[in-house]
Amino acid sequence: MTDRIRDFLRARRDLGRDEGPVMVLDLDVVRDNYTAFARSLPDTRVFYAVKANPAPEVLGLLAEMGSCFDTASVAEIEMVLAAGATPERISFGNTIKKERCIGRALAHGIRLFAVDCEAEVEKIARAATAAGLEAGAVQVFCRILCDGAGADWPLSRKFGCVPEMATDVLEHAHRQGLSAYGVSFHVGSQQGNTEAWDGALASAAAVFRECAERGIFLSMVNLGGGFPTQYLKAVPGVESYGDAIFRALTKHFGNRIPETIIEPGRGMVGNAGMIEAEVVLVSKKSAEEDEVRWVYLDIGKFGGLAETMDEAIRYPIRTRHDGERTEPCVIAGPTCDSVDVLYERQHYPLPVSLSIGDKVLIEGTGAYTTTYAAVAFNGFPPLQQIVI
Ligand SMILES: *Cc1c(COP(=O)(O)O)cnc(C)c1O
Repeated sequence: MTDRIRDFLRARRDLGRDEGPVMVLDLDVVRDNYTAFARSLPDTRVFYAVKANPAPEVLGLLAEMGSCFDTASVAEIEMVLAAGATPERISFGNTIKKERCIGRALAHGIRLFAVDCEAEVEKIARAATAAGLEAGAVQVFCRILCDGAGADWPLSRKFGCVPEMATDVLEHAHRQGLSAYGVSFHVGSQQGNTEAWDGALASAAAVFRECAERGIFLSMVNLGGGFPTQYLKAVPGVESYGDAIFRALTKHFGNRIPETIIEPGRGMVGNAGMIEAEVVLVSKKSAEEDEVRWVYLDIGKFGGLAETMDEAIRYPIRTRHDGERTEPCVIAGPTCDSVDVLYERQHYPLPVSLSIGDKVLIEGTGAYTTTYAAVAFNGFPPLQQIVI
């Protein structure tokens, strides 16, 4: 909780404008996070993963600070361009793209693309030819699979190919007139283990060697995201990640350390935002003395807290009764869908005195919330965001 957010919420309440849940995002925290990444990984370019929070104010600030951007769609590319970043600072990092979207990205000046199979390489090669670009003008990097061990939100099987196949994909790109630029991976989001990059870097180094044997010289490793933000569980600082990554790079690449980039999303904006929500109902399912209390908030899985799926992300929840006696509770959202329960398997301790109408503050909600809100499921509006 920053003083700026506290003051803002108080002023808003005094004005009687506290209708419905709101996420308030403090840009000063984003600024500090960017600086910490730049300092902890000094020779690495930062590509902010736009999907974590595409608010124009966030994109504008990061563009001004010199960040690059990892995008997943033409709409995200256009948002980043509108925020003032030039096309050479943007990568199209989604491995699943329509050919006509690749064409539109090329028309916007984007020249850096992710792939994880030969069919995707062919789409890019065709689009580049159609755009009249000369051989080598478009760079591609191949994503390799990573098991996501140690991550609270693994990205596992959907993206990437095995390292042995990456060599063939990159060779294919080279033969099709694209520039085979490097290898990428993602160690899983909210990665608590600073050593998680080691295994993937060993695989990346193997792809570099295999490609070199075929006369293709790669130059870049994209280290992905995964840098955690602080929820209930303590996490290592970004410097520890920087140190561990540098050690792993040296171990696997020796004195020929490649160009590197990182794509932080959660670690850039997670702790910058906080949701103020309201207790709508507190009830029990039976009169039994030891029956668990259900606390229903005006925000749930459809209002932006989708990452409570499988109770993967456990947000810190603050109330004005903190410090008083607590009881384990089930926490649920307001919609008429029974999956709209945030924490039930593992009960969440909340103050016994918490009652209907109380406000609660859900911390660490600057990433993966506003864009995860349903448009108007059950008549509840999408999560409102205010950037200060
Ligand atoms: C989502 C995503 C990221 C950001 O991951 P975080 O764990 O939020 O840092 C980075 N790179 C790619 C390709 C992604 O899809």
